[in-house]
Amino acid sequence: AKAAGRNTQRFFDPDMQAAVSMRAALEVDLRRGLNQRELLLYCQPVVDSSGKLLGAEALVRWNHPRRGLVLPGEFIPLAEQTGLILPLGQWVLEAACAQLVQWSRSALTRPFFLSVNVSVRQFRQPDFVTQVLGALQASGANPERLRFELTESLLLTDVEDSIARMEQLRRHGVGFSMDDFGTGYSSLSYLKRLPLDQLKIDQGFVRDLQTDPNDAAIVRTILALARSLDLSVVAEGVETPGQFEFLQRHGCQAFQGYLFARPMPAGMLERALLPAP
Ligand code: C2E
Ligand code: CA
Ligand code: CA
Ligand code: CA
Repeated sequence: AKAAGRNTQRFFDPDMQAAVSMRAALEVDLRRGLNQRELLLYCQPVVDSSGKLLGAEALVRWNHPRRGLVLPGEFIPLAEQTGLILPLGQWVLEAACAQLVQWSRSALTRPFFLSVNVSVRQFRQPDFVTQVLGALQASGANPERLRFELTESLLLTDVEDSIARMEQLRRHGVGFSMDDFGTGYSSLSYLKRLPLDQLKIDQGFVRDLQTDPNDAAIVRTILALARSLDLSVVAEGVETPGQFEFLQRHGCQAFQGYLFARPMPAGMLERALLPAP
């Protein structure tokens, strides 16, 4: 189709058809992968300024029989379009609860949180709250250790409904972070009304904060805003000591990024923390 040039109108673009059938194949494959239990729960540590573990973010991986470890960027969007995000999200929720229980029984002394990403379709399910409470109860996980990461666009699609769902879960101790903060359009009035515990500064602002004065200003503003609203902040995508130092200097107290640790299988996090035998 490329050789045909930009001006040529086609009703049937072979490139597009290839993309469509590839998507269909991927959908079948993902459905199979879900049934075959090919998903893995990875975790990335969140640390304080002394490097002490505060908690972790659950990040799903697909251990594909032929392709190896597939990152969520390659299948979450498709899962959202096809509805497969519902069984996938349920699997992640149950795996996260099981992990919390395992950590609580292990020799890990200090309790810490596990954050779970939630897609809009999953969050708007009529029985989302019931499903979460069911998973907590069935596993015996402590709700105080569970936290959900929701994006601005998700929260603002229906603010009243978002608040109601969050309040119901908060009554049981579940926490809420706003993910990728700064990339959406949230107005300050909404931010004040939403029952949040935490903001996560998007890694897009962290990346260039030492070279781009706009990004530096945005990060400082987010940190000041969070302080005045009494929200904690996690900076995402911290890769260099310079970024870490800048964030600390402006009052950030929780950090996530390759500088500290990459996402790892959930079981490894525990091993990394336990004192060597
Ligand atoms: P996110 O929620 O913004 O997650 C952070 C992403 O940044 C992760 O990518 C993580 O591996 C990556 N990251 C962490 N530290 C660094 C760093 O220092 N530098 C750079 N360049 N990247 C870093 P990942 O694991 O590929 O996940 C991508 C996205 O997929 C996540 O973005 C999240 O939106 C989505 N996702 C992951 N797991 C789930 C899930 O269980 N459910 C849903 N609905 N979405 C998920
Ligand atoms: Ca996240
Ligand atoms: Ca994020
Ligand atoms: Ca992101």
